[in-house]
Amino acid sequence: MTDRPAAQGIELTVTDVKQYIYCPRVVYFTYCMALIRPTTTKMELGKQSHACEEGLQKRRTLVKYQLIKGERRFNLRLRSERLGLSGMLDMAIFTRREAIPVEFKMSTKGPSLNHKYQLAAYAMLLEDELFIRGKPRVICQGSLKPRRYVRRGFIHYIPTRRVHEIEITPNMREYVKRILTDIREMVASESIPEATRRKNRCRDCEFARFCADIT
Ligand code: SF4
Repeated sequence: MTDRPAAQGIELTVTDVKQYIYCPRVVYFTYCMALIRPTTTKMELGKQSHACEEGLQKRRTLVKYQLIKGERRFNLRLRSERLGLSGMLDMAIFTRREAIPVEFKMSTKGPSLNHKYQLAAYAMLLEDELFIRGKPRVICQGSLKPRRYVRRGFIHYIPTRRVHEIEITPNMREYVKRILTDIREMVASESIPEATRRKNRCRDCEFARFCADIT
């Protein structure tokens, strides 16, 4: 049986949410096996391209986001005590009415499910940082008063320079919370989940050698 108090106390990251949707086993290996996760070349390239994109964004207008004005903040460390969740958001845009999370991706494909829910999790963290804490840690300059709820976010694909707007719906928020509960129960009970059925995901996975049932 799941040790509920222990499960509730497990701190998670937005990356866990993204990876759990991609393949729950990745999160299982990360938390339940004493492994040192290798830093792959792909991860290193990802970090470099994010840093490069930050430099470009600082010089560009906000026209891609269909905004005229806004304050951009990069690499925002966010945390919610309520959700037991933390993460580092690539960029946030603050306008007079909105706080908008933006994630940079190296992919050339359109928005995948795990990227959408990653963005939703960041939206929830941004809301908590801005409105739930007694004193917000994320302060936007001037007298900006964004809406209480983050209603949308963007995924910016670096290779194609395309930007996708994603609506952050109540159902998405509920789904993020459900995933957090599922991850905590999995980690607390140390039960290995099913492997992903999409075997193409295993090809580049750094944990492939631990998945004995994968052919
Ligand atoms: S090898 Fe496949 S099943 Fe195993 S963790 Fe990686 S993606 Fe998941």
